[in-house]
Amino acid sequence: VLEAEGLVRHFGGRPVLDGVSLSVARGETVILMGPSGCGKSTLLRCLKGLIQPDAGTVRIEGEDLWALPEARRRDLAAHVAMVFQRPQLVGHLSVLENTALGAAAAGIPWPEAYERAAMWLSALELGRHLDRRPAELSGGEGQRVAIARALAADPSVVLWDEPTSHLDPMLAADLLQLMEELIGRLRTTMLVVTHQPGFTARVGDRLILMDRGQVVESGPPARVLARPTSEVGRRLARLAA
Ligand code: ATP
Ligand code: MG
Repeated sequence: VLEAEGLVRHFGGRPVLDGVSLSVARGETVILMGPSGCGKSTLLRCLKGLIQPDAGTVRIEGEDLWALPEARRRDLAAHVAMVFQRPQLVGHLSVLENTALGAAAAGIPWPEAYERAAMWLSALELGRHLDRRPAELSGGEGQRVAIARALAADPSVVLWDEPTSHLDPMLAADLLQLMEELIGRLRTTMLVVTHQPGFTARVGDRLILMDRGQVVESGPPARVLARPTSEVGRRLARLAA
């Protein structure tokens, strides 16, 4: 469903992605871990078509994202949903409008976009907040709206970029549990950035470790966490123990 090959991206003359290749198969949940600053968010942004790599290819459903004309690239990228570290909602739109906009951007006609949005918002226990503005939500509620917006778009892949990183520990635990339930139930193709080894071991079909812009290890989470072969893997295994 999703493939990257030899992705390179520089910021300020420094390689932030230094030849990253990975693929995520249909229905697979792949976890991505690595130290802060190793390039995880940059990689996800390249996969979603938000930033252009200096070299390498991104394939979504077999199509070369950056080889397409802009309009087709946007259509293709709309099948990839992303949940960010912070909700990134449109401030002057209501919760329902924000969520429906995600679906509409993915090509779902408006009446159905609203239906899907309302369905997902009530599934995520936000049914009472449909008319609120994003500023009137708690951090956890905002992140649940961002998740509803991602899922209402009926995406072929969902990229999760540490959606719990700015929440207090109790809310983060609740949201992780919600993510775990959704991942188990939906079996949609997922690529999840997290720093939580327990979550990784429970939901991941595969674990990919990154360090300084490169993939340094990949394999079943239980194996990687028990018998790491990379320096980052060994550090992670010590933390998880
Ligand atoms: P974290 O776990 O803290 O979220 P990360 O692995 O997601 O880290 P990135 O956000 O991908 O890391 O950033 C990797 C490096 O690239 C960092 O050194 C960051 O400062 C740099 N970087 C990212 N985006 C930009 C940008 N738009 N301009 C300049 N530098 C950037
Ligand atoms: Mg990040």
